[in-house]
Amino acid sequence: MKKNPNEMMLMGMTCPKCGSFGPFEIAAIIAVMVSDGGADIGGIEPMWGDESDCTCPACTHTGIVEDFRGGSLSKKELEALGYEFLVDQDNKAFIYFTTPDDEPSESFLDESDAIRAASANAKEVYEISRCGNCGRVHNEQTLVAIKDMSERTDPGSVVPSGECPDCGALCYLIG
Ligand SMILES: [Zn+2]
Ligand SMILES: [Zn+2]
Repeated sequence: MKKNPNEMMLMGMTCPKCGSFGPFEIAAIIAVMVSDGGADIGGIEPMWGDESDCTCPACTHTGIVEDFRGGSLSKKELEALGYEFLVDQDNKAFIYFTTPDDEPSESFLDESDAIRAASANAKEVYEISRCGNCGRVHNEQTLVAIKDMSERTDPGSVVPSGECPDCGALCYLIG
């Protein structure tokens, strides 16, 4: 994975689908000072949060800001952890997921909501880490203990959670 160049407004953000570093279209809220005579549109500061809608113009992927910060797991990553996404047989417009322990979820009209709920479930139940090299996700059971920890990390940097069982690179907890 390339180092993320975003350090200011798009801190840590990247498109989860195509890997673009932006710019992204974020559905921001702007507070406008309006007097009886009209709106003062000078000095507007848009505001948005983790839950704001966010679109990548490069590939048209749409999600929320949190997804673009790597805080959410993708469908593929969730399936790798043992989640399954299924069509609700009672109402085929809905989809639901089952956890790795085969617990079914409630039904969702929108697949992206189901993925987001499964992602929240995964982060609650497991300690999920993502590999800094190959990008694969692992839980605390599949991570390997880090060899030569002191040689591979700089003091003051983010502490890795383990070693990737696939490529051997360092993995970091995702929050
Ligand atoms: Zn994209
Ligand atoms: Zn890896």
